Amino acid sequence: MTASAAIYLRISEDRTGEEAGVTRQREDCERRAMDRGWDVVAVEQDNDVSAKGRQKRPGFERVLQLIEDGAVQVVIAWHLDRLQRNRRDEVRLYELCEKRKVVVSLVRGPDLEWETPTGRYLADNLGSLARLEIEQKSDRQKRAQAQAAQAGRRVGGRKAFGYTLGGTEVIEEEAAAVYDGYRALLAGEPLAEIARDWNSRGLTTGQRGNSGERKDVPSPFTRSSVRDVLLNPRNAALRSHVTEEDRERAREERRRVYACDHVVGPATWPPIVDEGTWRAAVDLLRDPRRRTAPANARALLTGVARCGTCGDTVHSGGAAMTQPLRIYRCRSMKHVSRAAEPVEAYVSAVVVSRLSRPDAADLLTDESKPDVGKLREKAVALRTRLDGAAQAFAAGAIELSQLTRITEDIKTRLTEVENELADAGRVDVLGPLVSSADVQAAWDRMSTARRRAVVDLLMVVRLHPPGRGTRTFRPESVEIEWVAGA
Ligand SMILES: [Zn+2]
Repeated sequence: MTASAAIYLRISEDRTGEEAGVTRQREDCERRAMDRGWDVVAVEQDNDVSAKGRQKRPGFERVLQLIEDGAVQVVIAWHLDRLQRNRRDEVRLYELCEKRKVVVSLVRGPDLEWETPTGRYLADNLGSLARLEIEQKSDRQKRAQAQAAQAGRRVGGRKAFGYTLGGTEVIEEEAAAVYDGYRALLAGEPLAEIARDWNSRGLTTGQRGNSGERKDVPSPFTRSSVRDVLLNPRNAALRSHVTEEDRERAREERRRVYACDHVVGPATWPPIVDEGTWRAAVDLLRDPRRRTAPANARALLTGVARCGTCGDTVHSGGAAMTQPLRIYRCRSMKHVSRAAEPVEAYVSAVVVSRLSRPDAADLLTDESKPDVGKLREKAVALRTRLDGAAQAFAAGAIELSQLTRITEDIKTRLTEVENELADAGRVDVLGPLVSSADVQAAWDRMSTARRRAVVDLLMVVRLHPPGRGTRTFRPESVEIEWVAGA
């Protein structure tokens, strides 16, 4: 019995000229049907441009209907990336094919049968591979863009704060603000404070696009626009690439897309900060604790010092306006409750005296501060290996199972290196204090947020009850444990 087949075509935005046009797709698919002796009963197609976003693909829907109706036993497509646009469509197609025992035949790829677990595994992995290929393709587009930039032509896209519109050079004034922004953030300064600083320098958010395109009205910085600037991997001269598929998946999972999750490698433009600083900032900005932390000013030891009884962090209680005395207490409200000011004065004095010691500079030596340059080289090497493995697979030099294993292995090591880089960035917190000739004066000039970051980095503070009937401050009731290396 001759099997009936439907051909599915998708017209794509052909930016590189490397993709098969729809005519060629169709010819290839028809030849596949002829070779196999299949009877083509339908040819459906969608236009990629109109299919962008949430809109339905009518051609794809008709193919699903044909499968559902039992009208076809085979679906022919040129490549998997032509057939599936997002995870939801992928699953619908798989389930229907499995139910109706329909085979998907790919001109550029194998026949996919969903009846067996092996077939499903293969289809699943090819789906990820299709996404990988899309990323590699846009890598080529990016290279073309970089060449255009080097040749002096303007490259499209949004102007990044800190850089010129083409993105190849820094704008000194903006870059200086970005640099200071990282330092302030890592020292514990709230985003709103950084926004105020940038606005006071007369800086505004960037304008969009090339001439003729929509231009945003330059506006003052807010917490969220500062956050976006600091998260941008571009500032550490790292290239990122977010594919249409990535965006689609994020929409489905109702989360935002961040360029920092899609770093593909080093870039040619000059960095504003080193990778360690950038990674530390990303860590901090995406730490869920930071998101839930109150935005308003907090006392020095809030969320940092711990209750000596239950170990919970203490908070500064009592509205300052109505209560003359600020107090620290833990959530239980009954373990410890003590006047904030003497405790803060004591902890400040301990920090200043520690950082005034001649050996304070040791806190910043090689032991505590990893070599950022070396770590960065390591990260670059690992990312290159990741690319190499994907290319080896594409060229048929290694098996899918090998690719999976190699990829997992490299990614694990890459995560370790990235974490080390983030740690390296955090050490910058102490720099301004230790290098200062007058530590006390430098400490006094710091905002509470910065001081809190320093305390948190150096020590664990535990508060015990001051003792019944005591009027004088007893230092031993504030237990200070230095963290390793401090
Ligand atoms: Zn407690």
